[in-house]
Amino acid sequence: MARVRLAGVAKTYPDGTSAVKGLDLDIADGEFLVLVGPSGCGKTTALRMVAGLEEISGGTLTIGDRVVNRTPSRDRDVAMVFQSYALYPHLSVRDNIGFGLQLRKVAKAEIRSRVEDAARTLGLTEHLDRKPRNLSGGQRQRVAMGRAIVRSPQAFLMDEPLSNLDAKLRVQMRAEISRIQRDLGVTTIYVTHDQVEAMTLGDRVAVMKKGELQQVAAPQELYDHPVNLFVAGFIGSPAMNLLQGSLEADGAGARLTLGDQHLAVPAELLDERPPLRDYLGREVAVGIRPEDMDDADLGTEADGSVLTSTTELVEALGAELLVHFTLGAAPVVTEDTKELARDAGADTDLDSGRRSSGVIARFSPRSRT
Ligand code: ATP
Repeated sequence: MARVRLAGVAKTYPDGTSAVKGLDLDIADGEFLVLVGPSGCGKTTALRMVAGLEEISGGTLTIGDRVVNRTPSRDRDVAMVFQSYALYPHLSVRDNIGFGLQLRKVAKAEIRSRVEDAARTLGLTEHLDRKPRNLSGGQRQRVAMGRAIVRSPQAFLMDEPLSNLDAKLRVQMRAEISRIQRDLGVTTIYVTHDQVEAMTLGDRVAVMKKGELQQVAAPQELYDHPVNLFVAGFIGSPAMNLLQGSLEADGAGARLTLGDQHLAVPAELLDERPPLRDYLGREVAVGIRPEDMDDADLGTEADGSVLTSTTELVEALGAELLVHFTLGAAPVVTEDTKELARDAGADTDLDSGRRSSGVIARFSPRSRT
């Protein structure tokens, strides 16, 4: 196990593509760090540089106490788990898991016992003599994990290891990866484009965009205090509603204008983080999470605590509903309880009394019919 540090690590491909631009990350010994971002943001390239599969164009990469910029992959003592699993089809599960140890000339008895330990941890004991083609997708994924585990490496590097699994299995394996990583306490860097995976697995999550780190923080911190609009819109599902508005002082508090409607901002919120007072008299982007709205009847339009709109579409997801409507010209989604399902098609009140990005917002969309 080891601390992994990237200081200004950069990658420019020979064709001039600047895939990673000066990445700074300090991953603690035993930490689970998730690199997340949209397709093409450079997360795989960053991981492959740590693995030694891609040359580093600039900066310093340290694993443990060693600068490994020029250290070949096999001498970095890291184990990579690929999206494709990269199993050898002609070898049994036992030999696939033990392959790396055989290459390192570990004694046969030692290999046997380490492979069997890993198989027990992963629930693969009864499949040890099968070939990969006779395994399910989830079992193949476990074999790929087993190959990483038996080596007791300084770090696990995982590149979208769950993306070939169906949704149910993905949730199951996600929990399993989390458990195994905690049990073994191995420093882990995990790449995904799935923000739910990132939020559930990471001790910390690093959000990347176009080769640049946007924010690295614990999941809840990212959710509560995104540093910019990109992180705000990327973290959370359904995505945060982002609206353009303006904020004006109004008595001790403020008045938020969204299109032709107004919302009262209580004085006590002006100095909270982020300090809204700094934005008085300015155009602002307002972020309201769908889950921060509910249908409790908390206010009226007259006291500035309710916005009205028209329910356009209600999607029933079982436990909750997604309610779509428009505010000004902007489409808005709220997540609501079954209450609204009963009311959809009749007059409905949809209020939010909870905090959302420093603003209390209450909504009262009126159905068209
Ligand atoms: P995805 O989720 O789609 O795998 P990613 O975030 O992992 O995306 P990378 O694969 O790291 O992104 O790619 C980052 C950028 O570098 C992209 O613009 C990609 O087209 C480019 N790139 C990747 N590999 C090469 C290469 N060998 N030569 C030139 N450009 C490359």
